Amino acid sequence: MSDVFDKCRNWKDYRIAKATGLYPYFRAIEASHGATEVEIEGKRVIMVGSNNYLGLSADPRVKEAAIKATEKFGTTSSGSRLLNGTLALHEELEARLAKFLNRESAIVISTGFQTNLALASILGRHDIVFSDRQNHASLVDGIRLSFATERKFRHNDMDHLEQLLSQADPDAGKIIVTDGVFSMEGDICNLPRIVELAKHYNARVMTDDAHAMGVLGTRGRGTSEYFDLEKETDLVMGTFSKSFASLGGVLAGPFEVINYIRHKARSVIFSASMTPGSIAAALKALEIIEAEPERRARLLDIAEKMHNGFRAMGFDTGVSVTPVVPVHIGDQVKCFRFWRALHEAGVFANPVIPPAVEPGHALIRTSYMATHTDAQLDRVLDTFETIGRKLGVIPETRPSVYE
Ligand code: PMP
Repeated sequence: MSDVFDKCRNWKDYRIAKATGLYPYFRAIEASHGATEVEIEGKRVIMVGSNNYLGLSADPRVKEAAIKATEKFGTTSSGSRLLNGTLALHEELEARLAKFLNRESAIVISTGFQTNLALASILGRHDIVFSDRQNHASLVDGIRLSFATERKFRHNDMDHLEQLLSQADPDAGKIIVTDGVFSMEGDICNLPRIVELAKHYNARVMTDDAHAMGVLGTRGRGTSEYFDLEKETDLVMGTFSKSFASLGGVLAGPFEVINYIRHKARSVIFSASMTPGSIAAALKALEIIEAEPERRARLLDIAEKMHNGFRAMGFDTGVSVTPVVPVHIGDQVKCFRFWRALHEAGVFANPVIPPAVEPGHALIRTSYMATHTDAQLDRVLDTFETIGRKLGVIPETRPSVYE
């Protein structure tokens, strides 16, 4: 007779990882020094594994806004937006975000993950969703929770997308859903081609701009602004857990669609709303994102410095041009060894293994904050070089630029 708990008791991977000291998850941060350095197991490490892109989680103005809102409204909204959980602050954030994102309407939802789950509410039985294979898990789940048909296209493969669109029922409702910046490898979707295909095949377009909002585009509005295609995309999603230094998510688009989602999405109406502190922090972060574009400029300079630095050493950082800089390792065990050596040398970065990436393509995901200093970044580069050589990921000597 089998027991539903058998799989948990027999789960060997966890035990092996723990026994060999190669278990990299759920590491408790004991203290933070301005977010760019943290303490783990009593050791101070440089943080290059966070999505706090603009470094605003440590900004005194953002902290103060969260404290004041908590003092005024308490620690929680204690309910769903639909009933008792709507504060004037939620409405203010929605109005400000709609304006910032250049969209008719916006809704804020308690987490970014739940924001993507809300997509299910507008997908019916006769609709088809075209989804990039490397889309974030929350989009995958949002689609899975709907009754629509899902067609997955190979990562950023526009020929494959076109093939699937051309084979689809011309009368079905269609939407193409893609991450703007892909979370693990930092590459950007081919929005110009997606938009062309959407026009041709009469499909809607939604981008998940979790890693793009506050980062890409002249004003930080994300992937559509970066490509100058804001009028051509229908829905834009963002999270507050990254550039916005808070927790929550936003979905923006035409009023009637957002209003429908507001009333129908289960992740909205059956879940407590964003806390007063989270809304106030996101509002203040938005104000800073709008007023201080130099933070974005610094972040993109840092991204370029790190890409160039890693490449000069012989590392493969893929095709990313964003502050998500993957360092490709390949073998999973080597990736964990690399991670362990980084930690011991005082650098916090995240090992990424399948299913988050394709088998055999394990990588160390590094990500940066506008508030990192050059001295910190140089230490990170030096550490990667030493470990990369020791583990045979890069050559003993730097590759010649003339080769
Ligand atoms: N979309 C993408 C692309 C993400 O990377 C993430 C989280 N890393 C989410 C959605 C979910 O956002 P949150 O963590 O804020 O719930």
